[in-house]
Amino acid sequence: MFNSLSDRLAATFKNLRGKGRLSEADVDATVREIRRALLDADVAVPVVREFTGKVRERALGAEVNAALNPAQQIVKIVNEELVEILGGQTRRIRLAKNPPTVIMLAGLQGAGKTTLAGKLSKWLKGQGHSPLLVAADLQRPNAVKQLQVNGERAGVPVFAPDPGVSSEFEAATGDPVAVAQAGLAEARSKLHDVVIVDTAGRLGVDAELMQQAADIRAAISPDEVLFVIDAMIGQDAVATAQAFDEGVNFTGIVLSKLDGDARGGAALSVATVTGKPVMFASTGESLDDFEVFHPDRMASRILD
Ligand code: GDP
Repeated sequence: MFNSLSDRLAATFKNLRGKGRLSEADVDATVREIRRALLDADVAVPVVREFTGKVRERALGAEVNAALNPAQQIVKIVNEELVEILGGQTRRIRLAKNPPTVIMLAGLQGAGKTTLAGKLSKWLKGQGHSPLLVAADLQRPNAVKQLQVNGERAGVPVFAPDPGVSSEFEAATGDPVAVAQAGLAEARSKLHDVVIVDTAGRLGVDAELMQQAADIRAAISPDEVLFVIDAMIGQDAVATAQAFDEGVNFTGIVLSKLDGDARGGAALSVATVTGKPVMFASTGESLDDFEVFHPDRMASRILD
């Protein structure tokens, strides 16, 4: 991830080394290189435009730091602007004043939601919470089973509709909104302080899926709605993120499959175009491949 972008930016900055002062032409040439590098990394055009505009303005502006040479000055500006487009400060989960804290997951099928549910629950458990996973993805035949497997690995219980058992939840079978509500009731009665609700994804954004997710959101009033997006989807990331933002008004983003060799554009675009922060990163198939997303660390990694 970001390897090619990192190399391109490093090469650009190298050209500035040894320069005593940067002319407007130097700045323009540098900004042009940065623009090309970002576009080649699949960063969305409006994001690239805004980014390079700010870098240019600041590089030409009165920002003089006697301790830094011109090349270092530009690196510093690019670093700060990268942190900005990645969401600024690290955003932590908002815990409900009156537990349980309800976290709903949304995203396309295959984005990594069910895997993330396991990772997030394990991480929260490690922080002293007592999470409950709720299987409200009833579209994909295997999704409930997969969540149960992940829950078992994480040592976290899973609430799922059980078609074979006569219980008050039987009516909920097949209805994801009812399952989500019943899961929440279960969490309250068993004193779980966090509930993570996995929802269905389809291969493409569609109205029915969005309505179902919106209905679940309305029924359980989550404290956080995390939109999980596969960083490998490249240019499609922006339209997908915007559609989900309109549909479920998510509160935070999880970038999954950051271990892949994606060019990184999705990661750099989605926070800016939606105005929502990237909160977590998923970096592999094991439950421990999960981290809190720190915009400053990611920016440093790109500029390393
Ligand atoms: P869902 O349909 O959104 O619930 O997606 P899943 O959680 O089932 O994930 C789809 C596939 O991607 C599975 O094969 C996962 O093992 C894999 N996967 C999920 N997250 C990651 C990740 O961060 N890195 C990699 N390499 N694979 C992942």
